[in-house]
Amino acid sequence: MPLSLHEKGLYFAHALAELTGAQVAVYIEPTGVKAGGIRTATDQYQIRTALVNLLRNGNCGRAGLICLSYVPGELDKGMFQMNSVTGGLFWATATQIYKATVASFVWTAGVVAYSDDARPWVTSSETNRIVMANTWLRYNLMDGRPFHPPMVSTELSDMRGQLVREYAFPHSMVAVPDLTGPPSGYRPTPLVDAILMNLAYAIVRVSWAEGAIKRRSLDSETGRTVTRSDPYDVFSGHNIGSVLIDGNGKIFGWGLNTNSHGASLHGETMAVLTWQRTNSGPMPEGTRVYTTLKPCYMCAGTLVTAAPGCTVIYGQDDVNITNSALDRRVNNCTTEVRAHETTGHALLALQTEQDESTTGSLASDEASSLMGDALNEFFEIGVNIPPSRFESDLWGQAMDLLSAISPHAKILYRFYLKGLTAGTS
Ligand SMILES: [Zn+2]
Repeated sequence: MPLSLHEKGLYFAHALAELTGAQVAVYIEPTGVKAGGIRTATDQYQIRTALVNLLRNGNCGRAGLICLSYVPGELDKGMFQMNSVTGGLFWATATQIYKATVASFVWTAGVVAYSDDARPWVTSSETNRIVMANTWLRYNLMDGRPFHPPMVSTELSDMRGQLVREYAFPHSMVAVPDLTGPPSGYRPTPLVDAILMNLAYAIVRVSWAEGAIKRRSLDSETGRTVTRSDPYDVFSGHNIGSVLIDGNGKIFGWGLNTNSHGASLHGETMAVLTWQRTNSGPMPEGTRVYTTLKPCYMCAGTLVTAAPGCTVIYGQDDVNITNSALDRRVNNCTTEVRAHETTGHALLALQTEQDESTTGSLASDEASSLMGDALNEFFEIGVNIPPSRFESDLWGQAMDLLSAISPHAKILYRFYLKGLTAGTS
């Protein structure tokens, strides 16, 4: 029995793993290998696994299959779940080949049969497996033509046969500035939750406004219509925002879904990536993640990997996401939905009313307006906290971050204060 496509893919992945000295993921269609990714994470907490790098930069369609040189972890599983490649995900141990598929967000994995030709490779030792894989690689059994091993590149490329070391990062993301704080006496109170949850929505709202302003100015310069995917697209994702705070009350990360830089760059992922640009190891102890929408499978896998023991607080529920790594409390991570929090409920009701997908609904003008309400609620909290409370310092820190993300935040705050004065006179 000749080798099937996934068996060839597994040979290929193991051969490349030996060539590169790193874990490898390859995307394969019947006509050949279309894309590859190698692990570039420098420790177990970093999120650049081979599969993540493959799916982030790879020329992956949906009809092919993915083969790994390693056993997938939570992050890989979540990543695959959100990028369902219909041919399935394959990996091999010393005695078995495994296949995972995703149908309606449900991950199923099981052992698959392998051909007699593959049997010695699978059942033999690791070394033998790699030798056989290299033999296959040299003769390129995929289509019989002379084979040139894919190059390893640090550049974003079209991925035709190339391995990309690391996925591209949107350069326009603002790093967390040097913020005041942390406030002394910090502990996670309901007021802390309210400040940071509204901050997450406020980030979405101001960056939305920021994007619109930049697009308008670009319009008037060039005289042409600028679409959402044009240069300032960091501000035109699916409108999900996230904030990270450590156990001492210092805000240390933020993220915004940047859809057009890659469907996998969600708010939570961006927050983690921004931090990991200059830090390694696990995220600080007591990390709390405030995010506007319940984390998807990929982001759940990302958070349990990067921040063991973290608490994730989200505003809006997502019925499509059940039994994620966070739901299963992997690495002692926990989640809380803010039942008292109004914006999340209103956004969910809006989605039901619109009968839209979650992300589609979040891109609507009505959603923008609801997040504008959350921005005002954020301002209102700031006005009303007695300065003696530590939450007042925390609010100041949050406002500094918001102003760093968008200079217009301060203008909007002045408008808000003016409105208050007008209302009372
Ligand atoms: Zn996500």
